Amino acid sequence: MSQRSQQLLELQRLDAEIGQLTRRLQQAEAALGDRLQQRAAAYAIQQAEAALQARQREQREQEFELATLEARIKEHEARLYSGKGNPRDLQVLQGDIERDRQRRGALEEQVLSSMDASESARKEVARIKGATERVLGVAATRQEQLGGERAQLQAQLERDTARRVQLVDAVDATSLAQYDRLRQRMPDGMAVVTVIQGRCEGCRTTLPSAEVQRARSATGLVSCSVCGRILHVPSG
Ligand SMILES: [Zn+2]
Repeated sequence: MSQRSQQLLELQRLDAEIGQLTRRLQQAEAALGDRLQQRAAAYAIQQAEAALQARQREQREQEFELATLEARIKEHEARLYSGKGNPRDLQVLQGDIERDRQRRGALEEQVLSSMDASESARKEVARIKGATERVLGVAATRQEQLGGERAQLQAQLERDTARRVQLVDAVDATSLAQYDRLRQRMPDGMAVVTVIQGRCEGCRTTLPSAEVQRARSATGLVSCSVCGRILHVPSG
């Protein structure tokens, strides 16, 4: 068995794992950076609160107008019932009071519906806050999970990277260059393949037994005569 092909096979396994860990780490980082739900929740609350403020302002304005009107009616009534002034003036006063009373009736209706609108808006703010709290709670839990996942991935990557340094140190430069070249060139990124029952697992070609024998016993690397990948014959 060629120890060198064994080392390269281990390196290839490690490189595949490092690649996978790196991709997963990038995904975790991207998900951690995604604050879309938080931004959407803040926006929904802001919109609902603005609507509530507008309803409340409307209600206050109508209440103020109503109070002003009531004061005027009272004042006019007092003048009317005092009986002072000529009949023509009192008639005009009576007309003013009539119009103000009608306006008061309409305004009272408006104030009532404004109070309803304010109440609905207040409930809507509470409802949205409740809903977003749940969503944000779920998002916070997810962020925590992702944080833990990221730490694990980083630790595993560090271990793998340290192991890779050791492995690369143990392999000669020529073999390493050949491995790198093949990793780049092969569509599946497989530079080293095992030979199982005389067959190259890279190109699925059954190899001449002399070639298999050479791959088994050579001290240097032996490449598949068909696909060019480094052959590794497992012992036993
Ligand atoms: Zn092959």
